[in-house]
Amino acid sequence: MTTTAPTAAASSGTRATRTAVAAEARAVVKTYGRGETAVRALDGADLSIATGRFTAVMGPSGSGKSTLMHALAGLDTVDSGEVLLGGTDLTTLSEDRRTLLRRERIGFVFQAFNLVPSLTAAENIALPLTLAGRRPDPEWMAQLVDVVGLGDRLTHRPTELSGGQQQRVAVARALIARPEIVFADEPTGNLDSRSGGAVLGFLQYAARELGQSIVMVTHDPRAAAHADRVVFLADGRIVDELADPTAAAVLTTMTRLGAGEE
Ligand code: ADP
Repeated sequence: MTTTAPTAAASSGTRATRTAVAAEARAVVKTYGRGETAVRALDGADLSIATGRFTAVMGPSGSGKSTLMHALAGLDTVDSGEVLLGGTDLTTLSEDRRTLLRRERIGFVFQAFNLVPSLTAAENIALPLTLAGRRPDPEWMAQLVDVVGLGDRLTHRPTELSGGQQQRVAVARALIARPEIVFADEPTGNLDSRSGGAVLGFLQYAARELGQSIVMVTHDPRAAAHADRVVFLADGRIVDELADPTAAAVLTTMTRLGAGEE
């Protein structure tokens, strides 16, 4: 009997197909709570995320950005509608399957970096592969380390790194397994503008030069201006979008949506 090593896709039981659309929400409804206190966080949200592009999601506080990201990333279930990742409908998967799918096909960057304190920068970057019993491709690792400018910091632990350096480690970690899509939740929220600019520049590079699909939730028009496209949420739906945005154009749209104070 011959055995083949299980591929990432085979072990989660979902087929990873790289399609022109990396992720998609179709008529997604998500309600929190019941009865009079129920909140409809997503109210028929439709969004298509193009492969290899850097998409920013903006909108007033409470407009449903986090809920939409959690739905697209398989972190949470929805009430109705479809959520597709590279052709796989996440709404039909069990929780276990969604967990595997997240591990194998999605990269995450969080506002709070979420590095493992006891591991070096290099070990943190390699972690998604280590957990899956795999080793990083040395060339890809070297390329990521070079692009994020961490070459001389690889043996340092997170406490020995600045916030900007920690977030660059986190972005490299999100890319190391070449996921189908990376979700970044306010990745520059804890950084000064210079460190934030470096992280955003790297995300932009990852999309443009490495073909990485990226979705970023942000409040910051200057951060959103690094994306190829910005979509705007209001009351649980996509209500507007900008291609090749400038910070000024993003701010104008946000002000019109009643979130100019953010
Ligand atoms: P945003 O990220 O744009 O600020 P959210 O997706 O966090 O918006 O929230 C959308 C709406 O859903 C808000 O009214 C929020 O209060 C509500 N909401 C979000 N999460 C929960 C939850 N776990 N329980 C109850 N209501 C929630």
